[in-house]
Amino acid sequence: MQIRRDQIDPDAARVVERIRQSKHEAYLVGGCVRDLLLGRKPKDFDVATSATPNELRRLFRNCRIIGRRFRLAHIFFGRKIIETSTFRANPRAAADDQGENGNGNGSGKSDLLIRHDNEFGTAVEDARRRDFTINGLFYDIDTEQVIDHVDGLVDLEARLVRTIGDPDIRFREDPIRILRAVKFAARCDLTIEPETYRRMMEHKGEIAKCAQARVSEEFFRLLRAGAARRSFELLLGTGLLQVLAPDLARALQEEPVDEPGRIRLARFWAYLAAVDRSTISHEETPSDALVLATLLLPPLRDALHPDTAAFPNPGQLVLQSAQSIVEQLKASRRDSELARQILLATRYLFPSSNPQRKRPHLDNREYYRDALRLVEIVTDAESSNPELAGRPLPAPEGGAGTVAEEVLPDDLQPSAERAGRRRGRRERRPAQPSAPGRMGEPASPPPSREAPAPIIVSGRRSPPAFTPIPTLAERPLPLRPAFLGTGPFGSRWGARAE
Ligand code: ATP
Ligand code: MG
Repeated sequence: MQIRRDQIDPDAARVVERIRQSKHEAYLVGGCVRDLLLGRKPKDFDVATSATPNELRRLFRNCRIIGRRFRLAHIFFGRKIIETSTFRANPRAAADDQGENGNGNGSGKSDLLIRHDNEFGTAVEDARRRDFTINGLFYDIDTEQVIDHVDGLVDLEARLVRTIGDPDIRFREDPIRILRAVKFAARCDLTIEPETYRRMMEHKGEIAKCAQARVSEEFFRLLRAGAARRSFELLLGTGLLQVLAPDLARALQEEPVDEPGRIRLARFWAYLAAVDRSTISHEETPSDALVLATLLLPPLRDALHPDTAAFPNPGQLVLQSAQSIVEQLKASRRDSELARQILLATRYLFPSSNPQRKRPHLDNREYYRDALRLVEIVTDAESSNPELAGRPLPAPEGGAGTVAEEVLPDDLQPSAERAGRRRGRRERRPAQPSAPGRMGEPASPPPSREAPAPIIVSGRRSPPAFTPIPTLAERPLPLRPAFLGTGPFGSRWGARAE
């Protein structure tokens, strides 16, 4: 296994050279070395160095220091970032040397969780504090040699994911590593070494101890990496999905009771496979909002069909369907809101059989490209299996459905415009108490067909919307997610809509 110099990103090489000229050590490290040795194209190039973040800041004008738990330097080359981290010692080992328990909060030996990881060390210590042997390899660009302090080369050869050191300790120190093991196994088609696997299973419940943002970030990275379907199979097979999103896990595990249920399930897996094809064929990695929308679409596909007769509040419908899953996945407010808009926008992007159907102009909206890409993903999945094609739902009994909509629905307006309109309305009508801000938040009190669910403007709740002609949400929210067949789309749409 050999890495050639011409396989190295020139900017990453430049960073290494500049640091070395300043008499510090610097190597390429981690994912890029692993991927090159596996014959894969690295997603990015990371550098490990003996220079401290402050020294790096002095060396590079195009440098920004980020992170608190783990401080490192981002060195910018246009839109490209070369992540450059100072050699670390394992913070627990360092603290043990000083007679502490390593977590800095004095909560006892049994708690190994690492809360800060800024203890600088040597190159060897840095290799050993990394998560898996395949991720602990350094590459010296001058000698063109791989430096292996952790027996990573043999594991790469054997295609094994194995923790560096005792997996029991390594997973307790940082349970996020359990998700990362799944990611590498899925993405690089590797096997998880048996003892590593056994300890993953033992400690999977501890993922909840990690910061929510880290869990959610690692979860979405699983789906963006071109192996979303395989990752989901592994998450489900290992019971990790049960920990992360129990409702979704249950929905995927239960035997469908009827034909629509079977199709929803088949769509789920087919969409994930199509996300992977899209990731491989596009330069641009899918956004978190796009993959979230893809996960949420299967039970909504028919209701969001362009020829489905109009219903009072599609935005609310999406909220209800997605609620528990978004909540459990801890998606950010911004991504949840974008995912909702992406889903709603697909109603105008899928082909309609109605030649009169008018399409609002969406092309300057933030979610437009993602919505187009979702339509492309779904079309790809449906063309491989026409049985999965979206089918318009019938108009509700006694209610005339209006399919052609000429005005951009409120839910798809950019936030500022909506807020403006809402302020205007409030002058005329009394304000009501707050209502749900995003998918995943409790929907109360009921929104109306005139007042869609309030939106989030840069992470904050918008002012309370006026409400309400009571509609759908006046009924209790489904206790089980729509995916399970009891939500608004589980039963026949016409039976629920008003
Ligand atoms: P990707 O291709 O997804 O970027 P990667 O291996 O480069 O994979 P990163 O998250 O970019 O993963 O991390 C870079 C390197 O930092 C890893 O290869 C690993 O050596 C180390 N690392 C990352 N997260 C952890 C962790 N939680 N514990 C220990 N080491 C870690
Ligand atoms: Mg990386």
